[in-house]
Amino acid sequence: MLTAEVSTIFNYEGQIKKIHHILHAPSFEIVDQINEVLSKYGDLKADGRPTLMMSAPELVEKLMEINKDIVITSAHIWTPWFSCFGSRSGFNSVEECYQDQTKHIFSLETGMSSDPAMNWRLSSLDKFTLVSNSDSHSPWSWRLGREANVFDLKKVTYWEIFDAIKKKDRERFLYTIETSPFYGKYHYDGHRNCGINLHPKDAIKSNNICPKCGKRLTIGVLHRVEELADRPEGFVPKDAIPFKTLLPLYEIISFAWGSGELYSKKVLEEHDKLIENFGNELNVLLNVPKEELLKVTNEKIADAIIKVREGKVKYQAGYDGMYGKPIFDENFVQKKIELPTQKSLKEF
Ligand SMILES: [Zn+2]
Ligand SMILES: [Zn+2]
Repeated sequence: MLTAEVSTIFNYEGQIKKIHHILHAPSFEIVDQINEVLSKYGDLKADGRPTLMMSAPELVEKLMEINKDIVITSAHIWTPWFSCFGSRSGFNSVEECYQDQTKHIFSLETGMSSDPAMNWRLSSLDKFTLVSNSDSHSPWSWRLGREANVFDLKKVTYWEIFDAIKKKDRERFLYTIETSPFYGKYHYDGHRNCGINLHPKDAIKSNNICPKCGKRLTIGVLHRVEELADRPEGFVPKDAIPFKTLLPLYEIISFAWGSGELYSKKVLEEHDKLIENFGNELNVLLNVPKEELLKVTNEKIADAIIKVREGKVKYQAGYDGMYGKPIFDENFVQKKIELPTQKSLKEF
């Protein structure tokens, strides 16, 4: 799949709007044409997610002029700074964001900090199909595939995939894989630098002002969904695509062992061992029975994998750019397990 993310910056009724979009193209020829047109609006080589000085509807219009098979998905629609519904620079509806070009938008990316169930609470989103992608911009390979769309297709082609998405066809688009919305970087409200992490109810109690620095809190995804929802929690639209909630295997191992480090050779070795034995990460996370896992790994990790699979994990919620953390062991901070680590420079 030829795909890229772009950021559009534009003025809307006196406010600066910053919106991310995922572009999909059916061929390299069309990619060349897209590059030619979009390079007039920004430096495409500046970084992996080019910034374009054009409005969201303008972007869609220009792309549709190139080829009607280009698919534009609104990216991680709830994140505060760069999305359709973002608390800081977004809108209150998809129609407000994409204007008359909304007719070409049929898919929305739920992002890490929201899951489909949260989105089902807005009746205005029923006409769109919710999709889930890794949104992996960092060098950590284990974040690839942390969210995914699962299909059962006769032929895996660009057109088949998007036809299934467009028609919200439950025969072909089976389910999405989600991380827990608590894991996402913007689930709760707060201030990263002040160490303030609040449930929306508590943020509202303090007028959305940081109790430490007195400035406005970064309002997270849960708060925004609550503001815009017109349905109660737990509502399921009848044609909804189901979902499963998982966590990257690397992070399961890392947190189950109590280290939670972003990079650990030991964790990576355990991770690779499981994948080598059972074929791929999703098979380990979704299917392999505990007895089989125990032949390869220890009880603690096998238990953690099963807990994630069965949705029995508690989380410390993410906020203001900080990832949420799974808590496998109530006493995990105290019970620090000594892991063999890489030698420090002094030891050489
Ligand atoms: Zn983005
Ligand atoms: Zn603060």
